[in-house]
Amino acid sequence: MILLRRGDKGPQVEMLQLALLRAGYNIKGRNKGIDGVFGESTYLAVREFQRDNGLTVDGVVGAATWKKLLPYITGFLRYRIESGDTFYKISRRYGTSSQAISVANPNISPNNLPIGAIINVPLGFYNGENTVTYGEISYTWELMSLFIEGIIARYPFLESYTIGNSELGRGLYCITFGKGNTSVMYNASHHANEWITIPVVLKYIEKLAKAYAFGGDVGGYNAKTIYDLCRIHIVPMVNPDGVDLVNGYFDKDSDIYKSAKKLSENYPNIQFPTGWKANIKGVDLNLNYPAGWEQAREIKFAQGYNLPGPRDYVGPFAFSEAESVALGNFTRRNAFKLTLSYHTQGNVIFWKYLDYEPEGSLEIGRKLSEASGYSLELTPTESGYAGYKDWFIQENNRPGYTIECGIGINPLSVAQFDTIYRANEPLMSLAAVEAANL
Ligand SMILES: [Zn+2]
Repeated sequence: MILLRRGDKGPQVEMLQLALLRAGYNIKGRNKGIDGVFGESTYLAVREFQRDNGLTVDGVVGAATWKKLLPYITGFLRYRIESGDTFYKISRRYGTSSQAISVANPNISPNNLPIGAIINVPLGFYNGENTVTYGEISYTWELMSLFIEGIIARYPFLESYTIGNSELGRGLYCITFGKGNTSVMYNASHHANEWITIPVVLKYIEKLAKAYAFGGDVGGYNAKTIYDLCRIHIVPMVNPDGVDLVNGYFDKDSDIYKSAKKLSENYPNIQFPTGWKANIKGVDLNLNYPAGWEQAREIKFAQGYNLPGPRDYVGPFAFSEAESVALGNFTRRNAFKLTLSYHTQGNVIFWKYLDYEPEGSLEIGRKLSEASGYSLELTPTESGYAGYKDWFIQENNRPGYTIECGIGINPLSVAQFDTIYRANEPLMSLAAVEAANL
C-alpha cells in the first residue's frame, strides 16, 4: 500500500476512507465520505486514528498507519490468546460474537484455548449486513485481494486460489463454495469499466458462506442445501489490469498508463480511461474466445475496431490473451453445468449462441428473468460472437448466460450497487439450484 498524504486522490484514498469509516471515524462528504479525495476531513480523521492508536500523529498514512488500518479493510485481525481468555471475552473486545470466532478458527476448541496460539478474530462492522465486501467503492485488484483474504479468514471452509495471471501478472482469483456434484461458475468484469459487477458476485459468495455458517437463506434458498448440491465458483475479476486502469490505480506517469493512453489515441472519440473495456493490451476479452471469432473480427473491423484500443478489438487471434486463456483452461478443467457472465448495462439476460439450444437453457433463462426482473433477450448480431458465453455454449452445449446489470453509461455509479445486488442475489441462487436439477 502506498504512502498517502493530504492532496492525494484515487482508489487508494477510497480504501483509506473505507478503513476509517469502518473504524468509526466519520469523514464528511458524499458517499459516506468515500470520495477518493484526501482533503481536510480525511486528514483530521487520520490524525484522530493515529492518536487513538499510539501512532505518530502527522496525518500521513505510511506503513505503520496502514498496518493498524488493515483489519478494517480485511475485516479481521490476528490475536494471540492470553491466559484467562475465552471466545466470549475476545468477542466483546472486538465487537464480534463467540460463534463468529469459532467459525473462523475451526481447529481451536473454545473450551480449551491454547495460550499463545494465534487466532483470526472477525471484526464487527456496524453497517448493515456486516460483510467484508463493500459495494460502494472503486475496485482495484489490491482492494479485492484484501477483501478475499478477509472473507477466507472468516469462512475458512471456502476455497480460494488463482486460475492464472493477468497480462501484468495479477492473480486471477476464484472462490469456491460447496461440496456438491453440480459445478457452476459465475464470472465478472471481463470488461474493465463494468467493474461494479465485482462486488455483486463477491458479496453473494460471502453471504452464502455466512448463511451456511450461521444458518439461513440466500436468494430464497437455504445455504446448506446449496452447499450440499453445488459447487459455486466465482471469478470476480477476469480483467484486473483493465479495472485498475479505469479506476486510476496506475500513476499517470507510469509506463503502463502511458502505453494504454497511446492505444486509446487510435480511438479519439472514446473517453479515456472511463471508456476502457479491454485488457491492458487493448484486446476486448469478451471478443477473444474461439466461437465465431472470425465473424466477430469481420464485424468489428467493419465497424472500425481494427487496432488495439479501449474496446471491441478482437485480438490477433482467439485465445491470444492471458486472461481469456486462463478462464478457458479453468472451464475445460471443470465440467460446469451452467455459467453466468456478469456485465453492465441494460437489465437484460442473453441466453443464446447461434442455433444452439442446450437442454433447459430457455426454461432456466425464463426463471432467471423472473427472479431478477431482467428481460430475457436474444443477443444482437453485432455482439453475437466470440464472447465467453458463446464459447461456453458451443464447447459444452450447456446453459450459459450473459447478465447485463443496471442502467446508464458505463462505468455505472456505485449508487446502483444495492439495486443491482438485490436483483441478482435470487438469480444466482436459482441458477445453481436449477443447474443441479438438470
Ligand atoms: Zn460487457
